[in-house]
Amino acid sequence: MKHIALIALLFIIGCGGIPDHPADKKLVVIGFDSADWLAIDPLISAGEMPNFKSFLDSGSSGTLMSFVPMEKSPRIWASIATGLHPRDHGIGGFLKKNDELASSSDWSAPALWDIVGGSGRSSCVIGWWVTWPAQPIDGVMVSDHMSFTRKGSREGTIVQPDSIDLSDSIVDWESISNEELSRFIDLDALSGHEEEYALKLDELRIIYACDLTYLATLKQLVADQQFDLNVVYFRGLDVVSHKFWTYWNTEIAPHEYSELDIAVLGDIIPGYYKFVDELLGEVLALFPEDQQVAIMSDHGFHGPRHRKRGWQYGVQEHRPQGIFATRSPLYKPGHKFEQMEMLDTAPTLLALLGLPVSEAMTGAILSDGLTGDGKKFVDYLLENRVNSYASFLPARSDTIIEQTEVDDEIKKQLKSLGYIN
Ligand SMILES: [Zn+2]
Repeated sequence: MKHIALIALLFIIGCGGIPDHPADKKLVVIGFDSADWLAIDPLISAGEMPNFKSFLDSGSSGTLMSFVPMEKSPRIWASIATGLHPRDHGIGGFLKKNDELASSSDWSAPALWDIVGGSGRSSCVIGWWVTWPAQPIDGVMVSDHMSFTRKGSREGTIVQPDSIDLSDSIVDWESISNEELSRFIDLDALSGHEEEYALKLDELRIIYACDLTYLATLKQLVADQQFDLNVVYFRGLDVVSHKFWTYWNTEIAPHEYSELDIAVLGDIIPGYYKFVDELLGEVLALFPEDQQVAIMSDHGFHGPRHRKRGWQYGVQEHRPQGIFATRSPLYKPGHKFEQMEMLDTAPTLLALLGLPVSEAMTGAILSDGLTGDGKKFVDYLLENRVNSYASFLPARSDTIIEQTEVDDEIKKQLKSLGYIN
């Protein structure tokens, strides 16, 4: 079955008379959970996010509207990867009905990397939600549980092929000193109050180490091998937003904070956005300057909301306006588009990869800001949809995975973010 679909796809992509894709059809996808233009724009104006600034100048960008009512992050990222509404891709949320963590065998629709693999090309996927245990793909899959992993734990389930040794890329959060955190916190204000803030600073250390780990992993993998699709997801911004937003945006006031709280923790949010800018710069530096790149978030961030039932946290802190930006010869540099919808993401990423949309995908390829060549190519893709990519969904062995203390640790983290009860 997979074979037949592949032949059909090759027929569409490989025949004469097809307009040329103006790029090499390779793509880097960078996910920044919770990234919001409302926080980014002022930092760009202040010259504090130079990599974002030059990326936006060379690319096309605008608002990516998330689902309303709001969905949980794993469901949104699965929609970005499949082009399907959350009710259609099999990913239910953080937990399954039986309270176990969602797992990679839950996907009922092929993700971008399955489609890329089905068309005979390779992918490197790092940290995407619900990719544990890592499954074999055409390329390398690094599971989202890597960020919860200490060296040596969960062996055999974190990366496929499992012959790859990523232990040197794991940044141990306990090795991060307060000095290293000085980019986020005021060490002078902290001085003498270390004990008081130890727990909060550990939360910051853990997520900072997680993002550094994913960056190091990407560096390691692309140093050895080139992939057609490179995907890396960074969760840090969402975690720090949930934990530290109101120390920064003090107009939202669910708690009374002391002056010391504000002095120590008040700059974590802009500090982390500046770190995200550095992450972008580091990722871009790994690839050629004309490499196609797409950046996105699954939603923006508002902070806790005061409703009748009191202060609402978790998903209620999100706002639907996320970000999307792409650098590709398909789109005019510096173009600002008004808005795209969440389900437009997968068709747009497929177009960058030179692949058609399937009939099952109800979203559109971003059409605002196309270049002349881009329009020709996108029109061709729209006239030549494939029926379905369903046969590219790999058969997943229903491995029975033993729940361990690591699962409890992950659940604890999700609970502390207000995501699960
Ligand atoms: Zn969130």
